Amino acid sequence: MVKQARAGRVAGKRILVTGGAGGLGAACARRLSDEGALVIIADLLDDAGEHLARELGGHYRRLDVSSEEEWSALSLGLKRDFGGLDGLVNNAGIASSKAGEDVESIALEDLHRIFAVNVDGTVLGCKYGIPLMVGDASEGVRGSIVNLSSIAALIPASFLLAYGASKATVAHITRSVAMHCAERDYGIRCNSLHPGIVRTDMMNGIIDRVGREKSLGADKAGAAFEAQVPLGCAQEPVDIANGALFLLSDESRFITGTQLIVDGGMTLCN
Ligand code: NAD
Repeated sequence: MVKQARAGRVAGKRILVTGGAGGLGAACARRLSDEGALVIIADLLDDAGEHLARELGGHYRRLDVSSEEEWSALSLGLKRDFGGLDGLVNNAGIASSKAGEDVESIALEDLHRIFAVNVDGTVLGCKYGIPLMVGDASEGVRGSIVNLSSIAALIPASFLLAYGASKATVAHITRSVAMHCAERDYGIRCNSLHPGIVRTDMMNGIIDRVGREKSLGADKAGAAFEAQVPLGCAQEPVDIANGALFLLSDESRFITGTQLIVDGGMTLCN
């Protein structure tokens, strides 16, 4: 088992962040590392993932979250190299469709690909993550899983049919996993985290597509998206990372099966 001497809110915890090479996952990896975690980044972007892992004194592993074979191999490696896990952020996700994403234009192929990454990826993360975290009841609550859902799980949008449905499924899976772990006294919590609008590659892709579909252009579409945020200022990746940090730390030791919405109040108005 690898020991961490650093202080912090998640000091000494071994935390896997899927999709941790970029966007919100990278922000989570940085924030968790700042607070003393040993971070393992899993992604398809080898260069970016390895670079960030080196910078943080962590580790990088290549993983396609939609592949059970790859999760199985990764979990064996994590057991061998680190002795297990204390935390998992099922963050990897996609939203891009080759065709549109309303009910009349969606291509079945896009629907299946979005579900494969967002839903299969989350289920597999929980399936292979739990055995790496399991303690016994005498150890108390020790493991924490954070599943990245979205406000799209809570607010229907005609232009995000597959993505919104996949994220609503993630929120449901989270509650099922939380019950599963509690019923077995595994000492593992599971919560979903619901970001609003954060200008990552994924969000910029959605805004570009909506800008094209509504003949607004990306700038006007972006402004229209951000105008829906009551707190006004655009969210930063670190706002989401701070939510993940809380759910992975022992500060949230009695919180499981809940939904943490970090959206500047967007869901208040919808
Ligand atoms: P992003 O596209 O910027 O980053 C996603 C990361 O996941 C990338 O590093 C990518 O390489 C990786 N990834 C994609 N497919 C993968 C796969 N099959 N296996 C392993 N890694 C894979 O996206 P983001 O905005 O940082 O989103 C992160 C999570 O937050 C997603 O689950 C997304 O749905 C959710 N989310 C984001 C926003 C937002 O405003 N950005 C809002 C709500 C929810």
